[in-house]
Amino acid sequence: MTGFIHSRRQFIALSSATLAAAPWIAGCASAEGSGAIPAKAIGMPWPNWGELPDSPPPAPKEGSVGFAVMGLGGYGIGKVLPALAAADRCHVAAVVSGNPDKAKKVAAAYGLSEDAIYSYEDFDRIADDDRVEAVYNVLPTGLHLEWTEKSFAAGKHVLCEKPMAMSVAECEQMIAASEAANRKLMLAYRCHFEPFNLRAMELMREGAVGKIKHIETAQNYRMGPTSVSENWRVVRALAGGGPLEDYGIYGLQSALYLSGEMPVAVKAVTEQPANDPRFEQIFSTVTTDLRFPSGATARLFTSYDTAPGNNMARVDGEAGTLLMQPATGYGGHKMSLTRDGVTEDLNPGDPNVQFALQCDHLADAIRDGTEIITPGEMGLRDMALIEAIYRSAAEGREITL
Ligand code: NDP
Repeated sequence: MTGFIHSRRQFIALSSATLAAAPWIAGCASAEGSGAIPAKAIGMPWPNWGELPDSPPPAPKEGSVGFAVMGLGGYGIGKVLPALAAADRCHVAAVVSGNPDKAKKVAAAYGLSEDAIYSYEDFDRIADDDRVEAVYNVLPTGLHLEWTEKSFAAGKHVLCEKPMAMSVAECEQMIAASEAANRKLMLAYRCHFEPFNLRAMELMREGAVGKIKHIETAQNYRMGPTSVSENWRVVRALAGGGPLEDYGIYGLQSALYLSGEMPVAVKAVTEQPANDPRFEQIFSTVTTDLRFPSGATARLFTSYDTAPGNNMARVDGEAGTLLMQPATGYGGHKMSLTRDGVTEDLNPGDPNVQFALQCDHLADAIRDGTEIITPGEMGLRDMALIEAIYRSAAEGREITL
């Protein structure tokens, strides 16, 4: 589907080459004792956004895969639950939450009985629940490893949100746990199921802009006032370095799947303003330059501290330019192709299908044994690049991969 699947050997080769970057993550400030949200699974209040359906979804079709949704936050309630309800081959079978009131409301809205509600404390009993075949891990990043491992130990398949984990070493542990349990591990890289991005990949493969010379991506917005006691996204032990893992990962992914290449060198700069509670533990901005084997270059900009914000990918080639803006959001995508002085707007389909198609993709792999196009190895590959980016910034030099 993407035409950009790398062998397991290639993924691993890249991650080993950049393992030296791991201490940056390992040296993260601990969330414990700093007044920060702790790096362990706890319940949270009703999220700012996240509507519930007026009536429960219809009964699942014969053979549909039952998912437990783990972490009822903004994305879990706002996008993951509706996606599963809209999917063809899967459905919501359980919820896992540290907030019992919220879990009850969500379960009722999705037609689940109370025995399909799990807490983090009693999660292990899910092993005996045949209604649940897969877990959708929508927890903060710093909890992905622990709860993916627990899900595999309970015999479930896992669809894990991006970014995969906090380090290459954690990603490797997740892949090993999947192999030991003989269960599937898929990364929730939804752009691989979204019509605009899929068409863009196809156009680039067809040479629509000629030889690619440069790719520019931007994923940035201005985060409102917040601090480590209020928001896991600014807690290093839960969010890593911040905007790159959370939002800039879309630009990184775009540069790889639009170029169809893996970079040979990375050079990056990070910013962390002093005396700003938002950036006590994380970076505000990360700017990265990539060099590809073909000679093409890319610049990736991501920030939590720039207004009004941008979500963009542009590919400049010898014969034309592809512009996507917004490029990787939930909807409202725009894309144009300029060649010979003529700009054509492209509208390949409804971006909203990405959420359900992604869930069905794992169901296909479970039921039919089809290959997962966004496997754990892809999450590992991206984490290896992220580590190389931080290492480059910390050492102030280009890193050769
Ligand atoms: P939220 O903060 O909105 O929700 C996270 C939920 O995780 C909480 O509501 C809570 O659920 C549970 N949780 C358990 N322990 C903790 C803890 N220590 N701190 C905070 N929450 C905890 O986050 P999001 O839903 O925005 O993000 C969750 C994941 O989804 C992340 O990996 C993120 O990167 C990814 N994401 C992906 C997007 C995409 O487009 N693919 C978009 C947005 C996020 P409960 O109360 O039920 O226990």
